[in-house]
Amino acid sequence: MTVLVLGGAGYIGSHTVDQLVNGGYDVAVVDNLVTGHTEAVNPAARLYVGDVRDKEFMRTVFTKENVEGVVHFAAFSVVPESMQDPLKYFDNNTAGMIHLLEVMNEFGVKNIVFSSTAATYGEPKQIPIKETDPQIPTNPYGESKLAMEKIMHWSDLAYGIKFVALRYFNVAGAKPDGSIGEDHNPETHLIPIILQVAEGKRDKLQIFGDDYPTPDGTNVRDYVHVLDLADAHILALKYLAAGNESNAFNLGSATGFSNLQILDAARQATGKEIPAEMAPRRPGDPSTLIASSDKAREILGWKPNYDDVEKIIGTAWTWHETHPDGYSSK
Ligand code: UDP
Repeated sequence: MTVLVLGGAGYIGSHTVDQLVNGGYDVAVVDNLVTGHTEAVNPAARLYVGDVRDKEFMRTVFTKENVEGVVHFAAFSVVPESMQDPLKYFDNNTAGMIHLLEVMNEFGVKNIVFSSTAATYGEPKQIPIKETDPQIPTNPYGESKLAMEKIMHWSDLAYGIKFVALRYFNVAGAKPDGSIGEDHNPETHLIPIILQVAEGKRDKLQIFGDDYPTPDGTNVRDYVHVLDLADAHILALKYLAAGNESNAFNLGSATGFSNLQILDAARQATGKEIPAEMAPRRPGDPSTLIASSDKAREILGWKPNYDDVEKIIGTAWTWHETHPDGYSSK
């Protein structure tokens, strides 16, 4: 039996594929390589290059592979881009989910673990955020993922396809040996941008907004190591394989760090000066996102190994130092 990982050549997907392979799973990967990298995929996994929205292609994959469970990462995930081009997000992310569930239903595949996001909550009603809190996204990216959660809910009731939605907070870090890591083009995320400044590839960091209602005025986020996130997907697969009901879990550390605190931690982790300046707010950014992940800890038995943001940044720094041009570094 095989785990099919959609988007397995991307940042979180490739780390999860690696953990699955190391955990003894047989793994197949689908990725259209629009944002993914062939080199990121553990060579023990079979890579099929194609698009989740292409049902004929997906049928060939499901015909060849004896799929036991699906882990679905394949999505666009850049908040500012989603504000400018929402239909791109609803087409790729939301419509992609419809096509995927149709094919899973045709082939009788009943389990899916899904990358959802803290962005489905929007501006939180309370901190830390609980799974039962209102989901009112402030950007099309979050809306596209919330729609995917709802589509899975109704597909469970109608077709018995069980799902686990994992609502990620901010993901960071890399496999500590530096062999795989985060490589987006263009890069928009805070920690890799800070590390590009540390490497000298950018002049300075721009911090988007210092007038938020937070202790130092900059946004507060909850950072989780990518390998801890990968572990949660494997626990979710086991949870579904054991016959449990569909469910949603937050994945975060329950600790918030402001953008200025992250800059400070990166200066410590890299030993570099890292010039920075304040810049206007970025549209669509909630001020503070911190997860309660008690539910994942209690029900899935999730125990994150990384609780120190400087160590998390340190693993990303190893990747940046060994791959200054990402996967094209040879
Ligand atoms: N951010 C920033 N400068 C950058 C990139 C990001 O100040 O060049 C801020 C962003 O406004 C947010 C935080 O860093 O407050 C985390 O943003 P990121 O895009 O990494 O993740 P998000 O929270 O949007 O998922």
